[in-house]
Amino acid sequence: MPEVERWPSRFAEVGGVGVERALPKREHRTVGPWCFLDHMGPSAPPAEMRVGPHPHIGLQTVTWLLEGEVLHTDSLGSEQVIRPGQLNLMTAGAGVAHAEQSTHASGVMHGAQLWVAQPEATRHGPAAFEHHAELPLVELGTARATVLLGSLAGASSPGRSDWPIVGADLDMGGGRHAIPLDPTFEHGVVVLSGSLTIDGAHVASGVFAYLGSDRSELVVTVHRPTRAMLVGGAPFAEEVAMWWNFVGRTTEELDQARTAWEEGSDRFGAVRSPLDRIPAPVPWWQLHPR
Ligand code: MN
Repeated sequence: MPEVERWPSRFAEVGGVGVERALPKREHRTVGPWCFLDHMGPSAPPAEMRVGPHPHIGLQTVTWLLEGEVLHTDSLGSEQVIRPGQLNLMTAGAGVAHAEQSTHASGVMHGAQLWVAQPEATRHGPAAFEHHAELPLVELGTARATVLLGSLAGASSPGRSDWPIVGADLDMGGGRHAIPLDPTFEHGVVVLSGSLTIDGAHVASGVFAYLGSDRSELVVTVHRPTRAMLVGGAPFAEEVAMWWNFVGRTTEELDQARTAWEEGSDRFGAVRSPLDRIPAPVPWWQLHPR
């Protein structure tokens, strides 16, 4: 069994809310198909998230809240409020645009926003949006797992997945918990509240625990009520190029997507939102041409 690697998250800000960015890491650009993981908040009230219309390609966005309420609108015409315990899953394919904002200015924002890289087979395909108001819950002793994507302990998420994946929220009381894993997957854990110990390694909020593969279970010890996200999947077989809100394979592709967004091309469509459209930054490869 591989040793637990602990990687510090880096602080960032998204739409006015502080986030701890666990992925990507230079050392782990993907964990399964997961390529981006922001732990958002918990922010002191009054917290307001305002992320204006912006584009995506080649990925799925996963929104998961512990507290707060967010309105999602996208260029497919979707308009969906998401509440704690629900899943918003947007598939970008060749291109989509969306906006997200909290529905009221008071209260706490706490959750996770993640991206899943799409494989070659689907990444040039049509965009899609799914909202799942109810997800399967698995009782594992005194732990309760909500299955966001893939399967865990025999329960399967209704969410679309294009690559072998698992994503689950673990809600654990004090004690020792054993969570069954697919040993062919690589896995990682991010703590959203509380703290836990894996193989003697202490993991708290702000740290990404990379577990590697070849584990048939995750054994965690918890000293106080703890929420954590388990992410994993079959190691992603394709080398990804990520920049801004795009996941592709080459900088040329990312450039094309950037130009399309800046020119207001039909590729991304229009989003109904009172917020301002977010312009693309200048990519590093244009600032420092080789
Ligand atoms: Mn987005």
